[in-house]
Amino acid sequence: MPAPADRYREFFHTVLGDSVAERPALKHWGQSMPELDLQSLWYAGEFGTEFTTVDGQRLAIRDFGVWNHAAGPDFTGCALQLNGKTLKGDIELDPDARDWERHGHGANPNYEQVVLHLFLHQPEARVFTRTAGHREVLQVYLTPDMLKSNARPQLLAEARLGRCSTPLRHMPEAAVGSLLEAAAQYRLQRKSERLHALVRLHGREQAVYQSLAAALGYRNNQRPFTILAQRLPLRTLLKRDATERESLLFGVSGFLESVRYEDTEPETRTYLRQLWSTWWKQREAYAEWLLPPNQPVWQIAGARPGNHPQRRLGALSAVLENWKQVFAPLREVAAWDRKRFVKILLDLKHDYWSQHYTLLAAPAAKALALIGASRAQEILANLAYPLLVPEDERLWMDYKDLPAVLDNQKVRRAALRLFGAETTADLFQKRLFQQQGLLQIYEDYCLEDDSSCEDCPFPERLKQWQ
Ligand code: SF4
Repeated sequence: MPAPADRYREFFHTVLGDSVAERPALKHWGQSMPELDLQSLWYAGEFGTEFTTVDGQRLAIRDFGVWNHAAGPDFTGCALQLNGKTLKGDIELDPDARDWERHGHGANPNYEQVVLHLFLHQPEARVFTRTAGHREVLQVYLTPDMLKSNARPQLLAEARLGRCSTPLRHMPEAAVGSLLEAAAQYRLQRKSERLHALVRLHGREQAVYQSLAAALGYRNNQRPFTILAQRLPLRTLLKRDATERESLLFGVSGFLESVRYEDTEPETRTYLRQLWSTWWKQREAYAEWLLPPNQPVWQIAGARPGNHPQRRLGALSAVLENWKQVFAPLREVAAWDRKRFVKILLDLKHDYWSQHYTLLAAPAAKALALIGASRAQEILANLAYPLLVPEDERLWMDYKDLPAVLDNQKVRRAALRLFGAETTADLFQKRLFQQQGLLQIYEDYCLEDDSSCEDCPFPERLKQWQ
């Protein structure tokens, strides 16, 4: 009998066959996605690390370098492996292969060290990339299938009962339970692979910090939080004192400059003055990196006050202030202590953000938790266990024991489609792993379906699970 995750993988691939590989990983590929997001995905290794160049050579990225915040190529100090040799230099990512010449890089000496040109579109007639010194640059054409599926936009399927609810209702409880467990294990494995790839690329501490930032971005702001953590890496922030660090986070995020003093409460003015006192000294160096105020980088509309990105940024600041304690249980699997880790997260405090929802809000009547119980659960599900289970498989049982997250719109939507709004859904939502299994099925089938369930193969193939 294969392990549950293998069984789910086999089931999933048997159901969808080769179409799994062909599904576009991003709707509106390359057209509506801001360049900033693409650069962030590249830098996080979401496109992978091994590629075939346009002229058919195999290359591997050994070092993704530094995301450049000055004029010049996008990533500097990178290393590639090509034909057994290491090539060091810079990488440029453009939406279109022709952008190299359109933007004048071919005549710009700042681009002389570029060793790899990445692009998402290329014209039929081949265009070459050449530096000012007439050196030909390797080219890689990035395609949607390279992108890992978790980089897809977070969507929600229609809120209604699906066609699979009937066979699921008639399936023995144990079979539904084992299906959800297998899907949950498969989901955890995929998260682990992604996280460990990040560890290999950027080190364990940076990978943990980046994943924590993404988890604090909640559903709608994961990408801008990831970009912030990539552009302001841990090693940069930990060298600063608390005020400098916080002014960088709020300055680069654009929040500091988008608030007018006269619109704020007296306490907030004091806080803003403190941040500005160091931000103005650093602003010029980071000017290129300010998240653009004219682009909808942050999604604020519809966010609950507790999930407002300003408040979550305050929580990230508190995480950094207590970095040693936060990271200690994750440093190595032998140091893991779930209760201690959760307590550290729940106990985080901040002089300003423990009392405020946003920079424009009046102080709250009572102290607010910076990270609440359900966010801590999400951090366990998306960071701690994906990091640690591959290092000690016994932790899978510990993971299985975690109680369900109380409030998650996506889980509610998935349960409604698969089971209906009746009690059957509750039966399979007592534990976090069951919710994760539900989400996996929902993402693999419901989010891929555009036939209102009619052509979805899941209901018929469910018999195979029994
Ligand atoms: S799309 Fe498939 S899995 Fe989703 S509700 Fe419809 S039948 Fe069920």
